[in-house]
Amino acid sequence: MKSRNRLVQKLLDDYAPIWALNHSMAVMTWDMETQMPEAGARPRGMASGQIAMMMQKGIVGMKGEVAKAEKSKDLNDKDRGVVRALAREMDYYVKVPPRLVDELQKVTTEGTVAWRSARKKSDFKAFQTYLQRIVDIEREVAEKLGYDKHPYDALLNLYEEGFTVRDADAVFARLIPGTKKVMDRVERAGTYPSKHPLDSAKYDTPSMQRVNEGIVSLLGMPKERFSMDVSTHPFTIGIAPDDVRITTRYEGVNFKAALFSTIHESGHALYELGIGEDIKYSPIGTAASLGVHESQSRFWENVAGRSREFSTLVMPLLRKNLSFTSRYKAEDLYLYFNTVGKSFIRVDADELSYNLHIALRYEIEKKVIAGDVKVSELPSVWNDTFDRYFGMRPPSDSEGVLQDIHWSGGSFGYFPTYSLGNVILGMIWHKMGDGKLVRESVSAGDITPLKEWLQSKMHRYGATYTPKQLQDRLFGEAYNPDWLLRYLEHKFA
Ligand code: MG
Repeated sequence: MKSRNRLVQKLLDDYAPIWALNHSMAVMTWDMETQMPEAGARPRGMASGQIAMMMQKGIVGMKGEVAKAEKSKDLNDKDRGVVRALAREMDYYVKVPPRLVDELQKVTTEGTVAWRSARKKSDFKAFQTYLQRIVDIEREVAEKLGYDKHPYDALLNLYEEGFTVRDADAVFARLIPGTKKVMDRVERAGTYPSKHPLDSAKYDTPSMQRVNEGIVSLLGMPKERFSMDVSTHPFTIGIAPDDVRITTRYEGVNFKAALFSTIHESGHALYELGIGEDIKYSPIGTAASLGVHESQSRFWENVAGRSREFSTLVMPLLRKNLSFTSRYKAEDLYLYFNTVGKSFIRVDADELSYNLHIALRYEIEKKVIAGDVKVSELPSVWNDTFDRYFGMRPPSDSEGVLQDIHWSGGSFGYFPTYSLGNVILGMIWHKMGDGKLVRESVSAGDITPLKEWLQSKMHRYGATYTPKQLQDRLFGEAYNPDWLLRYLEHKFA
């Protein structure tokens, strides 16, 4: 990126080595998740700790220049974005003392190991002391960062810039009752099954790999800028604008899991690949927020991928590689892709009930961070809250409070971004003529118009704008859950 503003250009020049460190960290992360032998964890931790400190030093060192640039009068949108993005990164490093960052790093590394075995044994007590320490640190971090109204605001802002408890309360207050209504209607109508014979159909990995290769070529993923690997938990990482990697997983049964995780991660990858040439390698050459990122993955996974038109489109690919699908028509596939039913486990949830899982986590996290719920009370609070949302109680803590990895990693404030992804997806769907563009492109077998729409209106700006500004510019409003509800009604009821 180049800027005509002298101060901003200086910032961009000074950012170059920080970008390079970020780049190295991304390669190391990808390697750690896909290739690294177990014993590599220790030296990798040492190296990434050193690199993180170099990054911190580099960013904090730009403090004076950022302050000067902030006062500059002739800034265009991109310049303002650069200054804002750097100021935001700096804020964290300046306010949160290294001792706290270091402590959190250590306790979450140990905490994640403890959580894994606690979940296996459904033994909350084995995780409780770690979680207590993590919550204490998170609350301290919130105090250091500062907030207007609620300590949880400070944590939300780390994942979704400018998003507050007030915003989240407004979203869930409309989304949850609306979702419950749609769920009731769907249950009464009984059109969508809760189980399907294909759930238990076994496949062999090489065949499914060919399906996934067909999927990424159907989505037009650029071969020279993109790669696909295997990992336990699928993820996407943008190492550079021209080097985006996704992973997927193969469990040998229920092929839609592998199929939709590939589509989901490809949606994330398309976002990274679509960031504008003019802003690459700069502080704004990155996603606007986690919520916006998730809107892209879920758009491809749910709106496009789980549509009737898509079931027809992928049928030849499936029949060619997974012979057992030959017995099924496109409508059968559509119903298999869209089974609905309540689940204790968030990651198994269908498109309808997913946001209920997030709302209950949001409610609990907010109370924990405010100090209204004690860590020791979490299992019973979880079960009571779950009962209130779903009308059923988890039979064990591993199917309840212990199911997610997030808390063991210190990611308080992260969960709401999953629902924000869905909310933004609803706004995109509406802006596309209540899904008309999706139906037309997918049934024509050419998804280029969808890709171009998303790239030209969202991807190319990267983090030039805050997530709220980006939505305001495109939709004239931000985080409005009404369109998601309309989409769900349109599809399911
Ligand atoms: Mg995702």
